[in-house]
Amino acid sequence: MTPSYGAIKARARAEHLDIFGAFHPTADDGAPADCGTLFLLGPHEPGFWAHFTASAEYTDGTPNPVDRWSRRVVGELATAFNGTALFPFTGPPWHPFLRWGARSGRAWASPVELLVHDTAGLLVSYRGALALRDQIDLPSPPGSPPCNTCTDQPCRAACPVNALSSQGYDVPACHDYLTQTPDTPCLSHGCQVRTACPVSKTYARDPAQSAYHMKQFHS
Ligand code: SF4
Ligand code: SF4
Repeated sequence: MTPSYGAIKARARAEHLDIFGAFHPTADDGAPADCGTLFLLGPHEPGFWAHFTASAEYTDGTPNPVDRWSRRVVGELATAFNGTALFPFTGPPWHPFLRWGARSGRAWASPVELLVHDTAGLLVSYRGALALRDQIDLPSPPGSPPCNTCTDQPCRAACPVNALSSQGYDVPACHDYLTQTPDTPCLSHGCQVRTACPVSKTYARDPAQSAYHMKQFHS
């Protein structure tokens, strides 16, 4: 029996994941050849970080807990719906998650080149994808990026050293700043560009999650 969008969403929500977009891939999309519908999955807020940090993957002290958690949880979803789990952290070949985000109609290139999502803003992250053989009825995506009505565009000026701009991401400049300014909010609350976005502000991500990822990035 073909599962409904609602059934997949409910099952994902039970693990504090949400459907961050879905589409019917064509041959050019880099999805598995037999994929009729591809679902992108990201943290459902509020509560994702508390849910994750209570998991065995986080508490067992073994490296890469987020990726191991994602493998288990998205893998269980794939088994439940007779599909295939795909991840942004396995490769080569690497799966084109950013392209899939754009294809879903719920994520777009922002003025600072990062992807901006309709509900997670610049805090968008994909924990995995679910490829199902069936073509499942999908809700219509929002249609236009939030940047079109964001008059102030605070992402453009939020980085204290302009490491994230329309010119792209100057990773060495970012690391230099983080090293020289250890009490920066970037390390305790997350990248100031990502958190400045008004859509990010509506997405109740725990600052502890951002601090964790920043520590992984700058270690
Ligand atoms: S701050 Fe505004 S312009 Fe920048 S990514 Fe967010 S919505 Fe788009
Ligand atoms: S983490 Fe801080 S320094 Fe790095 S790009 Fe973001 S705002 Fe700039």
